[in-house]
Amino acid sequence: KVAEEAQKQTLGVYLVGGIVRDLLLERANHDIDFVVEGDAIAFAEHMQATYGGSVHSYAPFGTAKWHLDADTAEALGIANGKLPDHIDFASARNEYYLHPTALPTVYSGSIKLDLGRRDFTINTLAIQISPAAHMWRIVDYFSGLDDLKAGLIRVLHSLSFVDDPTRILRAVRFSERLNFKIEDRTAELITNALPMLRRITGERVRNELNLLWQEAAPESGIYTLAKMGALAAIHPAFKAPSHLGKLFKRLRARDLHQESDAYWHILLSHLPNEDITAIGERLLFGKPLITAIQATHTILYELPVLKENSPKPSRVVAVLGAMPAFSLEIAALFAEEPMSTTIRTYMDSWQNVRPKADGNTLKAMGLSTGPIYSQILLQLKNAWLDGEINSQAEEERFLE
Ligand code: ATP
Repeated sequence: KVAEEAQKQTLGVYLVGGIVRDLLLERANHDIDFVVEGDAIAFAEHMQATYGGSVHSYAPFGTAKWHLDADTAEALGIANGKLPDHIDFASARNEYYLHPTALPTVYSGSIKLDLGRRDFTINTLAIQISPAAHMWRIVDYFSGLDDLKAGLIRVLHSLSFVDDPTRILRAVRFSERLNFKIEDRTAELITNALPMLRRITGERVRNELNLLWQEAAPESGIYTLAKMGALAAIHPAFKAPSHLGKLFKRLRARDLHQESDAYWHILLSHLPNEDITAIGERLLFGKPLITAIQATHTILYELPVLKENSPKPSRVVAVLGAMPAFSLEIAALFAEEPMSTTIRTYMDSWQNVRPKADGNTLKAMGLSTGPIYSQILLQLKNAWLDGEINSQAEEERFLE
């Protein structure tokens, strides 16, 4: 239907980006991106007026997202479940950079200029669907098909990584995902552009690495980034722990693998607290995540009592009481024995232990209020934890 409507308007429309690459590689991809040689927003609005759904557009970039719904499915004669959630339309554009690492300024251009601003040759492939005379033509201006066959990640020009250093992280991500090699000259350009990584915003680095967590084995991407010096270029203290593969595998075996924070805990909690702060600030984590990773560090490395066999429960509660739940969860997953079991037992039972008596009980006994109250209640709790009290009667005797 997109082709049909575009052909009626004799607009040049192309399927572009990851979906073309993945179609040719026979890999699943559900992100449908079209480039329109003309006004993509007007075209998306035309599709919406004809087939329903809704359009959200972003005029400065000439882009529009057409959200499809049950009515669209009916108008298109497609089963609702088979319809993608949305389709993206972008006006063909070329970008130029006022200065390296600045946000691009956009102006209209043709499909070749649009494809020419992309990151790697394998991402420059397009399938033309309109005008009718060119339907299903594969557009390959930058030898993307050859690189796709050879399994190579190659940039389009030698300043690509200077224009946008996040492409260094993207190159590694695609190379790991597709099991492609970073072509030699491209690898050389990466080495030369590494210092530029220091200049990209923390948010962009963080977002790019968060995408890495969604790959099948992000640890190999991290090892590659570490080996090429990219982690150190992001922040000099940024080092991966040596047993990363084992830790990520443990995470994937658990529900926690959907939490991108969990990966950051694993990556950074082996570092000293001041490095965690510095890297967290560089990546604009926000205070709660930095504090939580530091807590994971403390639990794993700085509490000798957790390394003992069968420590007294009250001593464990005293050190873990203030720790965030997520840090405990992560630490339990990654600690060796006996620490792991101790943390789990704390989470499953010790942290919920409370004495039967409370402030009112002490008042009723005629005790004058003051700090002594919390001291007594703490002693009671510890006695329960350590098995010195096992019933209410025993607690009452203890209080007397
Ligand atoms: P994925 O399967 O991970 O979604 P994708 O190829 O669709 O891969 P996106 O990040 O969704 O990647 O980007 C869509 C397209 O935009 C890419 O194919 C790429 O050509 C282009 N692109 C994205 N980021 C950049 C960038 N930093 N520099 C140049 N081109 C980029």
